[in-house]
Amino acid sequence: MPVPSTLVVEDGAPDFTTPDVDKVEDHLRRGLCHLCGEKLRAEIGFVGGVVSMNTGMFRDGPVHLECGRYSFFACPFVSGRKEAYRYIRPDRVISHQQATPHRPEHMGLWVTDGFSTLGARERLQFIAHAALRVEWDCEIHHRFATIHD
Ligand SMILES: [Zn+2]
Repeated sequence: MPVPSTLVVEDGAPDFTTPDVDKVEDHLRRGLCHLCGEKLRAEIGFVGGVVSMNTGMFRDGPVHLECGRYSFFACPFVSGRKEAYRYIRPDRVISHQQATPHRPEHMGLWVTDGFSTLGARERLQFIAHAALRVEWDCEIHHRFATIHD
């Protein structure tokens, strides 16, 4: 399983619930994909649930389109293979208070050409530019039906 390059890693084990704020800021400064850590291209994507798709605001940073599509399958949260987050550390509760404990009904990939940010550190949010298009998980699942089934 690929590990997003912005996660907190403890004793070699990535914590899928916790982005490392220093890594996130470093990724932003250098224009890197928040999943694979490689340079972003002109078209970027944001992965989020229905609320994010209505507002254009995201908790997770910009990713390559293919990384976002892949995360529908690879990430234990986004793919829905795990029903809820694993153990949530009490000392990290602040960064989780806005996180959804269960997978949203539908996940989408917001495809755009830029973004701005709001807040900082644990409260950082991403405001995407207007969507060029939105790819929904159901479409992705259709497209990759042979893999998914
Ligand atoms: Zn990537």
